[in-house]
Amino acid sequence: MEPTPLDDEALKQKLTPEEYAVLRNKGTEAPFSGAYTDNHEAGVYRCKVCGNVLFTSAAKFDSGTGWPSFTDPAVAENVGTRTDDSAGMRRTEVFCKHCGSHLGHVFDDGPVEKGGKRYCINSVCLKFEKGADRKS
Ligand code: FE
Repeated sequence: MEPTPLDDEALKQKLTPEEYAVLRNKGTEAPFSGAYTDNHEAGVYRCKVCGNVLFTSAAKFDSGTGWPSFTDPAVAENVGTRTDDSAGMRRTEVFCKHCGSHLGHVFDDGPVEKGGKRYCINSVCLKFEKGADRKS
């Protein structure tokens, strides 16, 4: 999918102030505050803005960090990464490739047996679809 241009005013109406701050201004929700940190139900996690399928419950694990954590994206081409030098450190930002919204960061301290990645994602960027396990 190609990136979708988004009307910023429409998004301000659609999203809560916290969702807007994280998704569009690269904010971070407070740890342990999100709805999905301890969600263990089977399903898929979609982009809150555009509905793009991002992650599945199959890749979710308990990292203890206070944010939903995944070993890898549901569909590799749906999730982008880029270098982020903000906040005085070098990190790798994770974003929705369809709409460009910020999702979180990816780190190299994930489960070694599952590839070693930890996609640290803000709950407010996601919309959980219970029971579904499809990737489109
Ligand atoms: Fe999106």
